Amino acid sequence: MPGRYRKQNLPCCGYEVDDVSSIYQKDAVPEPGDFSICLNCGSWLRFTEDAATLRTIEVSDWLELDDDNRNHMSRITKEIHKRGLLRKGGVDAN
Ligand SMILES: [Zn+2]
Repeated sequence: MPGRYRKQNLPCCGYEVDDVSSIYQKDAVPEPGDFSICLNCGSWLRFTEDAATLRTIEVSDWLELDDDNRNHMSRITKEIHKRGLLRKGGVDAN
């Protein structure tokens, strides 16, 4: 997907991410402040002001989410936790 996102080891679990995608819109480009979820560990993240990297969320970020989005993200995280880690620190978990 084209975009501003730069390759990064996520602050939550070290998972290396070189691309991002939207579950709602094909070819969507992240905007500053958009929320995201780590597909490795299920942590909630937010795009930085330049939308080039992701950071962990703070309580104030969490409060900006409406109930629908909070519930939707919680369901996704629950499924990721059920599945377990894909990788830890960029190294295969199995
Ligand atoms: Zn993670």
